[in-house]
Amino acid sequence: MNEDLEYINCPVCNSPHWEKVYVAKDYLYSLEVFTVVRCNSCGLLYTNPRVPQDKIGDYYFHDYFQYKKKDSAGILRNIKAKFNSILRGYQQKLLKELESISAKNVLEVGPGYGELLFFLKKLGFRVTGCEKDRGCMERIRQSNIPCYLGDLNDVIDEISSEKFDAVIFHHVFEHLYVPIRTLNSVHKLLSDDGKLFLALPNSASIEAKIFGKYWKGLDLPRHLVHYEAKTIEKTLCISGFKIKQLNAGVFPSSFIESIGFRFFENRKLPKLLYLTLYYPLKLLQLMFTRLIGSGVMEIVAVKKR
Ligand SMILES: [Zn+2]
Repeated sequence: MNEDLEYINCPVCNSPHWEKVYVAKDYLYSLEVFTVVRCNSCGLLYTNPRVPQDKIGDYYFHDYFQYKKKDSAGILRNIKAKFNSILRGYQQKLLKELESISAKNVLEVGPGYGELLFFLKKLGFRVTGCEKDRGCMERIRQSNIPCYLGDLNDVIDEISSEKFDAVIFHHVFEHLYVPIRTLNSVHKLLSDDGKLFLALPNSASIEAKIFGKYWKGLDLPRHLVHYEAKTIEKTLCISGFKIKQLNAGVFPSSFIESIGFRFFENRKLPKLLYLTLYYPLKLLQLMFTRLIGSGVMEIVAVKKR
């Protein structure tokens, strides 16, 4: 075992008691083995032991943020971008929600290459990013979007002169080392009528159960906590939030990449097969998510009164 790993108590309730649930590999890059445990007290699934914060950068390879990057080269990505705009994904749903509260000022934590920020800026929103990756941060700033460098908790004093109508964590929340502290920071930054948007894997989904340790949503060791509806609800509640909406999201790549991890020797589907599965599955999820579910939860939360 990697001797740099650190054992931790439950990141939500601080209980030191847990039992092993999965022993699984980093199928995306390193092939190192990691363990997921369940807290005996609150039921939270989390990676334990985990890679310490100062070493986790070694597990984010240069293409990790690619799925957030729309305008890069590559035929596959261009075709995907075209279809995605036709098939109205997460961005359109988010837009509807933002319009419903007449949001103007939006913060995205962990924007990666900034696709969502660029989209919202074009529509006239005042957008801000907070990004740990220097390359991504610079790219966002080059587009005249303010972007803080670092962990939200470390830059909160610089940001806190502002209040935001919406704070977004799009496939970021499961990467946080101190989720409760981060939510406390969000609570300070969010206006009283503001909305918090989370999109993250659902470890209790049918998809997660089908694939078990091969499920893409585990994404070890980068995903530190593996939430499901009841544990994310508790995490939000402790931090002064309540859930307004919790729905399965459209995210076909999670299912398809899990097939790659499970059945392909190089852990990847050939590009053509990937595309052949991606759009029919996306269509199916778009039409029937309530019925068939997906591996992802999309949550809208508000401050408790
Ligand atoms: Zn716990």
